[in-house]
Amino acid sequence: TEATDFDQIRSDFPVLQEKVKGKPLVYLDNAASSQMPAVVANRIDHYHRHEHANVHRGIHHLSQKATDSYEETRRKVQAFINAEHEHEIIYTSGTTDSINLVAYSFGEQYIDEGDEIVVSEIEHHANIVPWQIAAQKHGASVQVVPVNDDGDLDLEAYEKLLNKRTAIVAIGHVSNALGTIHPVREIIAKAHERDIPVLVDGAQAVPHGQVDVQALDADFYAFSSHKMCGPTGFGILYGKERYLDAMPPYRSGGDMIDKVSFEGTTFNVLPHKFEAGTPPIAAGVGLGTAVDYLSNIGMDVIAQREQELLDYATQQLLDIDGLRIVGTARQKASVISFVFDDIHATDIGTILDQQGIAIRTGHHCAQPAMRRFDIAGTARVSLAFYNNREDIDRLVKGIKEAKTFF
Ligand code: PMP
Repeated sequence: TEATDFDQIRSDFPVLQEKVKGKPLVYLDNAASSQMPAVVANRIDHYHRHEHANVHRGIHHLSQKATDSYEETRRKVQAFINAEHEHEIIYTSGTTDSINLVAYSFGEQYIDEGDEIVVSEIEHHANIVPWQIAAQKHGASVQVVPVNDDGDLDLEAYEKLLNKRTAIVAIGHVSNALGTIHPVREIIAKAHERDIPVLVDGAQAVPHGQVDVQALDADFYAFSSHKMCGPTGFGILYGKERYLDAMPPYRSGGDMIDKVSFEGTTFNVLPHKFEAGTPPIAAGVGLGTAVDYLSNIGMDVIAQREQELLDYATQQLLDIDGLRIVGTARQKASVISFVFDDIHATDIGTILDQQGIAIRTGHHCAQPAMRRFDIAGTARVSLAFYNNREDIDRLVKGIKEAKTFF
Protein backbone atom coordinates (compact mmCIF):
# COMPACT_ATOMS: atom_id res chain seq x y z
CA THR A 1 0.00 0.00 0.00
CA GLU A 2 0.95 3.60 -0.59
CA ALA A 3 2.78 5.24 2.30
CA THR A 4 0.73 7.95 4.03
CA ASP A 5 2.10 11.47 3.52
CA PHE A 6 2.03 12.95 7.02
CA ASP A 7 3.50 16.28 5.88
CA GLN A 8 0.48 16.62 3.62
CA ILE A 9 -1.81 15.63 6.48
CA ARG A 10 -0.21 18.24 8.72
CA SER A 11 -1.03 20.91 6.17
CA ASP A 12 -4.73 19.92 6.44
CA PHE A 13 -4.78 21.68 9.84
CA PRO A 14 -4.75 25.49 9.44
CA VAL A 15 -4.07 26.17 13.11
CA LEU A 16 -0.73 24.37 12.91
CA GLN A 17 0.54 27.27 10.76
CA GLU A 18 -0.09 29.71 13.64
CA LYS A 19 2.70 31.46 15.46
CA VAL A 20 2.53 31.70 19.24
CA LYS A 21 4.78 34.23 21.00
CA GLY A 22 6.55 34.67 17.69
CA LYS A 23 7.33 30.96 17.30
CA PRO A 24 5.63 28.30 15.21
CA LEU A 25 3.01 26.57 17.36
CA VAL A 26 3.89 23.13 18.71
CA TYR A 27 0.56 21.64 19.76
CA LEU A 28 0.93 18.80 22.24
CA ASP A 29 -2.36 19.07 24.12
CA ASN A 30 -4.39 16.77 21.90
CA ALA A 31 -5.87 14.78 24.78
CA ALA A 32 -7.66 17.93 25.93
CA SER A 33 -8.87 18.80 22.43
CA SER A 34 -7.58 17.79 19.05
CA GLN A 35 -7.28 20.30 16.21
CA MET A 36 -9.71 20.55 13.32
CA PRO A 37 -8.82 19.94 9.67
CA ALA A 38 -10.02 22.54 7.15
CA VAL A 39 -12.53 20.09 5.62
CA VAL A 40 -14.42 19.92 8.91
CA ALA A 41 -14.37 23.69 9.47
CA ASN A 42 -15.51 24.19 5.85
CA ARG A 43 -18.32 21.69 6.24
CA ILE A 44 -19.65 23.48 9.32
CA ASP A 45 -19.32 26.82 7.54
CA HIS A 46 -21.18 25.46 4.51
CA TYR A 47 -23.96 24.18 6.74
CA HIS A 48 -24.40 27.60 8.32
CA ARG A 49 -24.33 29.42 5.00
CA HIS A 50 -26.47 27.09 2.91
CA GLU A 51 -28.32 24.44 4.89
CA HIS A 52 -29.32 25.76 8.29
CA ALA A 53 -32.79 25.00 9.61
CA ASN A 54 -34.21 23.10 12.54
CA VAL A 55 -34.17 19.30 12.30
CA HIS A 56 -36.82 16.58 12.60
CA ARG A 57 -39.79 18.94 12.32
CA GLY A 58 -39.95 20.84 9.09
CA ILE A 59 -41.76 19.73 6.01
CA HIS A 60 -39.83 22.34 4.04
CA HIS A 61 -36.78 21.68 1.93
CA LEU A 62 -34.15 23.24 4.17
CA SER A 63 -35.32 21.43 7.29
CA GLN A 64 -35.22 18.13 5.47
CA LYS A 65 -31.76 18.88 4.15
CA ALA A 66 -30.50 19.78 7.63
CA THR A 67 -32.11 16.62 9.00
CA ASP A 68 -30.47 14.48 6.33
CA SER A 69 -27.03 15.95 6.96
CA TYR A 70 -27.44 15.65 10.72
CA GLU A 71 -28.75 12.07 10.58
CA GLU A 72 -26.06 10.99 8.11
CA THR A 73 -23.56 11.40 10.94
CA ARG A 74 -25.37 8.73 12.92
CA ARG A 75 -24.79 6.16 10.17
CA LYS A 76 -21.17 7.26 9.80
CA VAL A 77 -20.57 6.86 13.53
CA GLN A 78 -22.39 3.53 13.52
CA ALA A 79 -20.05 2.22 10.83
CA PHE A 80 -17.00 3.84 12.45
CA ILE A 81 -17.43 1.95 15.75
CA ASN A 82 -19.28 -1.00 14.20
CA ALA A 83 -22.52 -0.70 16.16
CA GLU A 84 -25.21 -3.20 15.19
CA HIS A 85 -28.06 -0.66 14.94
CA GLU A 86 -28.18 2.97 13.91
CA HIS A 87 -30.58 3.74 16.77
CA GLU A 88 -27.98 2.57 19.27
CA ILE A 89 -26.03 5.77 18.49
CA ILE A 90 -27.31 8.51 20.83
CA TYR A 91 -26.23 12.09 20.25
CA THR A 92 -25.04 13.90 23.37
CA SER A 93 -22.97 16.99 24.08
CA GLY A 94 -19.85 14.97 24.89
CA THR A 95 -18.41 12.15 26.97
CA THR A 96 -19.43 13.87 30.20
CA ASP A 97 -23.02 14.13 29.01
CA SER A 98 -23.02 10.53 27.76
CA ILE A 99 -21.87 9.17 31.12
CA ASN A 100 -24.33 11.39 33.01
CA LEU A 101 -27.10 10.01 30.82
CA VAL A 102 -26.22 6.42 31.69
CA ALA A 103 -25.60 7.15 35.38
CA TYR A 104 -29.06 8.76 35.58
CA SER A 105 -31.18 6.60 33.28
CA PHE A 106 -29.50 3.25 33.91
CA GLY A 107 -29.49 4.18 37.58
CA GLU A 108 -33.24 4.81 37.60
CA GLN A 109 -33.93 1.43 36.05
CA TYR A 110 -31.21 -0.83 37.41
CA ILE A 111 -29.41 0.54 40.48
CA ASP A 112 -30.98 -0.42 43.80
CA GLU A 113 -30.16 0.03 47.45
CA GLY A 114 -27.06 -1.90 48.47
CA ASP A 115 -25.83 -2.21 44.89
CA GLU A 116 -22.25 -1.53 43.86
CA ILE A 117 -20.80 0.46 40.98
CA VAL A 118 -17.24 -0.45 40.01
CA VAL A 119 -14.85 2.20 38.64
CA SER A 120 -11.05 2.38 38.53
CA GLU A 121 -8.67 4.50 40.55
CA ILE A 122 -7.49 6.43 37.50
CA GLU A 123 -10.77 7.46 35.91
CA HIS A 124 -11.45 10.96 34.63
CA HIS A 125 -13.75 12.83 37.03
CA ALA A 126 -16.46 12.49 34.34
CA ASN A 127 -16.43 8.74 35.01
CA ILE A 128 -16.42 9.10 38.80
CA VAL A 129 -18.68 11.92 39.92
CA PRO A 130 -21.87 10.92 38.01
CA TRP A 131 -21.56 7.48 39.62
CA GLN A 132 -21.09 8.96 43.08
CA ILE A 133 -24.26 10.98 42.59
CA ALA A 134 -26.17 7.96 41.27
CA ALA A 135 -24.89 5.87 44.18
CA GLN A 136 -26.05 8.45 46.72
CA LYS A 137 -29.43 8.72 45.09
CA HIS A 138 -30.09 4.98 45.05
CA GLY A 139 -28.32 4.00 48.28
CA ALA A 140 -25.58 2.19 46.37
CA SER A 141 -21.79 2.46 46.74
CA VAL A 142 -18.83 3.08 44.44
CA GLN A 143 -16.11 0.42 44.52
CA VAL A 144 -12.63 1.23 43.24
CA VAL A 145 -10.27 -0.99 41.21
CA PRO A 146 -6.70 -0.15 42.22
CA VAL A 147 -3.80 0.29 39.77
CA ASN A 148 -0.23 -0.91 40.23
CA ASP A 149 2.87 1.30 40.17
CA ASP A 150 3.00 1.19 36.37
CA GLY A 151 -0.55 2.49 36.09
CA ASP A 152 -1.99 -0.86 35.02
CA LEU A 153 -5.27 -2.03 36.54
CA ASP A 154 -5.00 -4.75 39.16
CA LEU A 155 -7.15 -7.32 37.37
CA GLU A 156 -7.15 -9.75 40.28
CA ALA A 157 -8.53 -7.07 42.56
CA TYR A 158 -11.04 -6.22 39.84
CA GLU A 159 -12.38 -9.76 39.70
CA LYS A 160 -12.66 -9.89 43.47
CA LEU A 161 -14.80 -6.75 43.43
CA LEU A 162 -17.39 -8.30 41.10
CA ASN A 163 -20.33 -9.90 42.89
CA LYS A 164 -24.11 -10.25 42.89
CA ARG A 165 -24.58 -6.66 44.02
CA THR A 166 -22.48 -5.16 41.22
CA ALA A 167 -24.91 -3.16 39.08
CA ILE A 168 -22.45 -1.86 36.50
CA VAL A 169 -18.72 -1.50 35.76
CA ALA A 170 -17.59 1.89 34.41
CA ILE A 171 -14.07 1.90 33.08
CA GLY A 172 -11.88 4.08 30.87
CA HIS A 173 -10.51 2.57 27.68
CA VAL A 174 -7.41 4.79 27.65
CA SER A 175 -6.40 6.92 30.66
CA ASN A 176 -6.19 10.62 29.83
CA ALA A 177 -3.86 11.17 32.79
CA LEU A 178 -1.31 8.42 32.09
CA GLY A 179 -2.07 7.03 28.62
CA THR A 180 -2.57 3.50 29.92
CA ILE A 181 -4.62 1.29 27.59
CA HIS A 182 -6.86 -0.87 29.73
CA PRO A 183 -7.65 -4.43 28.60
CA VAL A 184 -11.33 -3.57 28.22
CA ARG A 185 -12.21 -6.66 26.27
CA GLU A 186 -11.03 -8.83 29.13
CA ILE A 187 -12.62 -6.50 31.69
CA ILE A 188 -15.95 -6.74 29.88
CA ALA A 189 -15.73 -10.52 29.53
CA LYS A 190 -15.11 -10.93 33.27
CA ALA A 191 -18.14 -8.76 34.04
CA HIS A 192 -20.34 -10.57 31.52
CA GLU A 193 -19.52 -13.93 33.12
CA ARG A 194 -21.58 -12.54 36.00
CA ASP A 195 -24.19 -10.75 33.82
CA ILE A 196 -22.86 -7.32 34.81
CA PRO A 197 -23.02 -4.63 32.10
CA VAL A 198 -20.02 -2.41 31.37
CA LEU A 199 -19.76 1.23 30.34
CA VAL A 200 -16.51 2.18 28.62
CA ASP A 201 -15.29 5.78 28.66
CA GLY A 202 -13.72 5.86 25.20
CA ALA A 203 -12.92 9.60 25.07
CA GLN A 204 -9.19 8.89 24.68
CA ALA A 205 -9.50 5.69 22.67
CA VAL A 206 -11.72 6.49 19.69
CA PRO A 207 -9.38 9.21 18.34
CA HIS A 208 -6.34 6.93 18.44
CA GLY A 209 -7.27 3.56 17.01
CA GLN A 210 -9.97 1.29 15.64
CA VAL A 211 -12.78 0.72 18.12
CA ASP A 212 -15.31 -2.04 17.49
CA VAL A 213 -18.05 -1.97 20.11
CA GLN A 214 -19.40 -5.37 19.07
CA ALA A 215 -15.99 -7.04 19.20
CA LEU A 216 -15.47 -5.52 22.65
CA ASP A 217 -19.06 -6.46 23.54
CA ALA A 218 -19.34 -3.11 25.38
CA ASP A 219 -22.81 -2.36 26.74
CA PHE A 220 -22.21 1.40 26.66
CA TYR A 221 -19.42 3.32 25.00
CA ALA A 222 -18.96 7.10 25.37
CA PHE A 223 -16.80 9.59 23.45
CA SER A 224 -16.42 13.25 22.39
CA SER A 225 -16.34 14.90 18.99
CA HIS A 226 -13.76 17.55 19.94
CA LYS A 227 -11.07 14.98 20.68
CA MET A 228 -11.43 13.36 17.23
CA CYS A 229 -10.98 16.35 14.90
CA GLY A 230 -14.61 17.41 15.24
CA PRO A 231 -16.21 20.45 16.89
CA THR A 232 -16.96 20.98 20.58
CA GLY A 233 -20.44 20.57 22.05
CA PHE A 234 -21.09 17.18 20.54
CA GLY A 235 -20.55 13.58 21.57
CA ILE A 236 -21.79 10.05 21.29
CA LEU A 237 -23.28 7.46 23.57
CA TYR A 238 -23.37 3.99 22.08
CA GLY A 239 -25.64 1.67 24.02
CA LYS A 240 -27.04 -1.79 23.42
CA GLU A 241 -30.63 -1.62 22.31
CA ARG A 242 -31.96 -3.78 25.12
CA TYR A 243 -30.55 -1.47 27.80
CA LEU A 244 -31.46 1.78 26.04
CA ASP A 245 -35.01 0.51 25.45
CA ALA A 246 -35.49 -0.30 29.11
CA MET A 247 -34.01 2.97 30.41
CA PRO A 248 -36.20 6.04 31.04
CA PRO A 249 -35.43 9.35 29.32
CA TYR A 250 -32.70 11.54 30.78
CA ARG A 251 -33.95 14.95 29.68
CA SER A 252 -37.42 15.73 28.40
CA GLY A 253 -39.19 18.18 26.13
CA GLY A 254 -39.55 18.45 22.38
CA ASP A 255 -38.43 15.73 19.96
CA MET A 256 -38.21 12.99 22.58
CA ILE A 257 -41.97 12.48 22.83
CA ASP A 258 -44.54 10.39 21.00
CA LYS A 259 -47.84 11.82 22.34
CA VAL A 260 -48.22 14.54 24.94
CA SER A 261 -51.37 15.26 26.90
CA PHE A 262 -52.09 16.34 30.45
CA GLU A 263 -53.24 12.81 31.16
CA GLY A 264 -49.77 11.57 30.35
CA THR A 265 -47.00 11.47 27.80
CA THR A 266 -45.47 8.66 25.81
CA PHE A 267 -41.93 8.75 24.57
CA ASN A 268 -40.36 8.59 21.14
CA VAL A 269 -38.44 5.55 19.91
CA LEU A 270 -34.64 5.23 20.04
CA PRO A 271 -32.52 7.23 19.51
CA HIS A 272 -34.88 10.22 19.85
CA LYS A 273 -36.10 9.22 23.32
CA PHE A 274 -32.75 10.48 24.63
CA GLU A 275 -32.46 13.57 22.43
CA ALA A 276 -34.71 16.34 23.77
CA GLY A 277 -34.75 19.81 22.26
CA THR A 278 -32.95 21.43 19.34
CA PRO A 279 -29.49 19.87 19.15
CA PRO A 280 -26.18 21.43 18.03
CA ILE A 281 -26.91 20.58 14.41
CA ALA A 282 -23.80 22.14 12.87
CA ALA A 283 -21.59 20.29 15.31
CA GLY A 284 -23.27 17.01 14.45
CA VAL A 285 -22.77 17.62 10.75
CA GLY A 286 -19.13 18.52 11.42
CA LEU A 287 -18.53 15.30 13.34
CA GLY A 288 -19.69 13.34 10.28
CA THR A 289 -16.99 14.99 8.19
CA ALA A 290 -14.40 14.37 10.94
CA VAL A 291 -15.30 10.67 10.91
CA ASP A 292 -14.86 10.62 7.12
CA TYR A 293 -11.53 12.40 7.46
CA LEU A 294 -10.19 9.94 10.04
CA SER A 295 -11.54 6.94 8.13
CA ASN A 296 -9.85 8.10 4.93
CA ILE A 297 -6.48 8.12 6.66
CA GLY A 298 -7.35 4.88 8.43
CA MET A 299 -7.45 4.33 12.18
CA ASP A 300 -4.80 1.62 11.97
CA VAL A 301 -2.48 4.00 10.13
CA ILE A 302 -3.17 6.66 12.77
CA ALA A 303 -2.51 4.21 15.61
CA GLN A 304 0.81 3.12 14.09
CA ARG A 305 1.94 6.68 13.44
CA GLU A 306 1.12 7.74 16.99
CA GLN A 307 2.87 4.70 18.44
CA GLU A 308 6.05 5.65 16.55
CA LEU A 309 5.80 9.23 17.82
CA LEU A 310 5.10 7.98 21.34
CA ASP A 311 8.16 5.71 21.31
CA TYR A 312 10.36 8.50 19.95
CA ALA A 313 9.07 11.06 22.47
CA THR A 314 9.43 8.59 25.36
CA GLN A 315 13.08 7.90 24.45
CA GLN A 316 13.88 11.59 24.05
CA LEU A 317 12.21 12.59 27.31
CA LEU A 318 13.85 9.81 29.32
CA ASP A 319 17.20 11.27 28.24
CA ILE A 320 16.47 14.42 30.23
CA ASP A 321 18.11 14.42 33.66
CA GLY A 322 15.68 14.12 36.55
CA LEU A 323 12.58 13.59 34.40
CA ARG A 324 10.33 10.79 35.61
CA ILE A 325 7.48 9.41 33.56
CA VAL A 326 4.35 8.54 35.56
CA GLY A 327 2.51 5.58 34.09
CA THR A 328 4.94 3.13 32.56
CA ALA A 329 2.54 0.43 31.44
CA ARG A 330 3.51 -1.51 28.32
CA GLN A 331 0.28 -0.71 26.50
CA LYS A 332 0.02 3.03 26.14
CA ALA A 333 -1.54 5.47 23.72
CA SER A 334 -0.27 8.95 22.83
CA VAL A 335 0.02 10.38 26.35
CA ILE A 336 3.20 10.98 28.34
CA SER A 337 2.81 12.33 31.86
CA PHE A 338 5.97 13.36 33.67
CA VAL A 339 7.33 15.11 36.74
CA PHE A 340 10.60 16.50 38.06
CA ASP A 341 11.47 16.28 41.73
CA ASP A 342 12.56 19.90 41.91
CA ILE A 343 10.47 21.71 39.27
CA HIS A 344 6.73 22.28 39.47
CA ALA A 345 4.76 21.07 36.43
CA THR A 346 3.04 24.46 36.12
CA ASP A 347 6.43 26.15 35.76
CA ILE A 348 7.43 23.77 32.97
CA GLY A 349 4.16 24.46 31.19
CA THR A 350 4.53 28.23 31.55
CA ILE A 351 8.07 28.31 30.23
CA LEU A 352 7.16 26.04 27.30
CA ASP A 353 4.26 28.34 26.47
CA GLN A 354 6.74 31.19 26.09
CA GLN A 355 8.24 29.14 23.27
CA GLY A 356 4.93 28.44 21.57
CA ILE A 357 4.71 24.88 22.92
CA ALA A 358 1.30 23.83 24.24
CA ILE A 359 1.15 21.09 26.87
CA ARG A 360 -1.20 20.51 29.79
CA THR A 361 -0.20 20.62 33.43
CA GLY A 362 -2.08 19.76 36.59
CA HIS A 363 -4.25 16.88 37.72
CA HIS A 364 -5.97 16.34 34.33
CA CYS A 365 -9.40 15.91 35.94
CA ALA A 366 -8.08 12.76 37.62
CA GLN A 367 -7.29 13.76 41.20
CA PRO A 368 -7.55 10.20 42.58
CA ALA A 369 -4.96 9.09 40.00
CA MET A 370 -2.59 11.82 41.16
CA ARG A 371 -3.16 10.81 44.78
CA ARG A 372 -2.35 7.20 43.87
CA PHE A 373 1.07 8.30 42.64
CA ASP A 374 1.50 10.76 45.49
CA ILE A 375 1.88 13.80 43.24
CA ALA A 376 -0.08 17.03 42.90
CA GLY A 377 -0.02 16.94 39.13
CA THR A 378 2.06 16.21 36.06
CA ALA A 379 3.18 17.84 32.86
CA ARG A 380 1.32 16.00 30.10
CA VAL A 381 2.33 15.73 26.48
CA SER A 382 -0.39 14.25 24.28
CA LEU A 383 0.23 13.43 20.65
CA ALA A 384 -1.86 13.27 17.51
CA PHE A 385 -1.05 11.81 14.10
CA TYR A 386 -0.38 15.32 12.71
CA ASN A 387 2.45 15.89 15.17
CA ASN A 388 5.98 15.12 13.99
CA ARG A 389 9.47 14.51 15.32
CA GLU A 390 10.29 18.19 15.01
CA ASP A 391 7.51 18.96 17.51
CA ILE A 392 9.07 16.50 19.93
CA ASP A 393 12.58 17.85 19.35
CA ARG A 394 11.35 21.37 20.10
CA LEU A 395 9.62 20.11 23.23
CA VAL A 396 12.76 18.39 24.48
CA LYS A 397 14.88 21.48 23.74
CA GLY A 398 12.28 23.60 25.54
CA ILE A 399 12.32 21.42 28.64
CA LYS A 400 16.12 21.45 28.72
CA GLU A 401 16.06 25.23 28.53
CA ALA A 402 13.39 25.38 31.22
CA LYS A 403 15.64 23.32 33.48
CA THR A 404 18.39 25.95 33.27
CA PHE A 405 16.01 28.42 35.00
CA PHE A 406 15.90 26.27 38.13
N1 PMP B 1 -13.12 10.92 29.93
C1 PMP B 1 -11.86 11.04 29.51
C2 PMP B 1 -10.95 9.85 29.60
C3 PMP B 1 -11.40 12.26 29.03
O1 PMP B 1 -10.13 12.38 28.64
C4 PMP B 1 -12.28 13.35 28.96
C5 PMP B 1 -11.83 14.70 28.44
N2 PMP B 1 -10.65 15.17 29.05
C6 PMP B 1 -13.59 13.16 29.38
C7 PMP B 1 -13.99 11.94 29.85
C8 PMP B 1 -14.61 14.27 29.34
O2 PMP B 1 -14.85 14.62 28.01
P1 PMP B 1 -15.70 15.91 27.66
O3 PMP B 1 -15.06 17.04 28.43
O4 PMP B 1 -15.54 16.06 26.20
O5 PMP B 1 -17.10 15.67 28.08
